[in-house]
Amino acid sequence: MTAPDRPFREAVIDLAAVADNIRTIAGRVAPAEVIAVVKADAYGHGAVPVARAALAAGASRLGVADLDEALALRDAGVDAPIVAWLHDPFADFRPAIAGGVELGASSLDQLERIAAQAGDRRAAVHLKIDTGLSRNGVPEAEWPAVVARAAELERDGRIEVVGVFSHFANTSREADASQLAVFERALAAATEAGLRPRLRHIASSEQALRDPSSRYDAVRIGIGMYGLTPFGDGTTCTDLGLRPVMTLRARVAAVRRVDAGAGASYGHLWHADRPTTLALVPLGYADGIPRHATGGGAEVLLGGRRRPVVGRIAMDQFIVDVGDDSVEVGDEVVVFGDPATGAPTADDWAEASGTIGYEVVTRIGPRVRRTPAGDAAAANEAAEAADGSVPEAGA
Ligand SMILES: *Cc1c(COP(=O)(O)O)cnc(C)c1O
Repeated sequence: MTAPDRPFREAVIDLAAVADNIRTIAGRVAPAEVIAVVKADAYGHGAVPVARAALAAGASRLGVADLDEALALRDAGVDAPIVAWLHDPFADFRPAIAGGVELGASSLDQLERIAAQAGDRRAAVHLKIDTGLSRNGVPEAEWPAVVARAAELERDGRIEVVGVFSHFANTSREADASQLAVFERALAAATEAGLRPRLRHIASSEQALRDPSSRYDAVRIGIGMYGLTPFGDGTTCTDLGLRPVMTLRARVAAVRRVDAGAGASYGHLWHADRPTTLALVPLGYADGIPRHATGGGAEVLLGGRRRPVVGRIAMDQFIVDVGDDSVEVGDEVVVFGDPATGAPTADDWAEASGTIGYEVVTRIGPRVRRTPAGDAAAANEAAEAADGSVPEAGA
């Protein structure tokens, strides 16, 4: 057997799919701008290549949670606008301000700290109003004081309020409507205070794809860009015209013929009801395969067909039942990917394990090599080789 030119475990990141998904969504939400959300290492896909592909396809800005995530993009040479919105209470904002990173401000205290650390360069701020998610964001009762102070700091030349934003609770259309009503009041109060934020944004993928009234000047798109569904109602990526970006695959590590009655994997939760062939897939919960998918009806694509996962998912491996078909050690197994290829999706795995596709892709572990693919991968490499700048659209 000759060694294939492929790693044992691999997540192929299709940057052409990132570009297609961004174009699809941008076309749907125009004239609203697309802020591509690349927090958590681009939901496990790799922040730098995904950011470059999204910007080249027309995203106007990047969104991250932490300052460090924004600074890592700057270090990689990404010079597009970036907004970061979740801060350590003791954060040093100076490197971010110096690097032109835009800052979400969720309280009067945070606003004061940002303004106090602005030096020669004004800090670009997006003020966050809590419209009902009850996480961070300024409570409505405190909003008038915050916008008044922001206007003062703007006149003093310490900050520039470039945006006002909020985040939905993804609860129901009625709840969305009441959050939008709070957002409208907050925008009116900001105007009243003398602020003229260019970017009003509240929608993430779910509302951006469903509700035109939520789009304002920009939408923050995470999961849709990765080709997974934001909806919990059975709407699939295919229904939305989106293509999954990540394909998780491995090579069969062992094949075993077993008799009827044989138990497989820890605890023998599963027994063969006939003589059958089992194939061992070298991915487990340490690699992000949800242990909760055990017994949940998850499948993989192997030998051109869907095969059921059987028995306990272990730390490093799980078993699939291939019946009487012939499977060999070294054959490719696609755990999830693009449904157009016949593979299950990360959303299917989420369904089998009682979670959401977001969690499935975000938790893929460090033993899995990320391999960028698609035309944009070449463009990314060229950009890196040149000066780290962002490739032109269509490159
Ligand atoms: C993660 C996040 C998003 C992206 O949400 P998706 O549902 O993945 O589109 C948008 N805005 C904020 C504030 C977030 O934290």
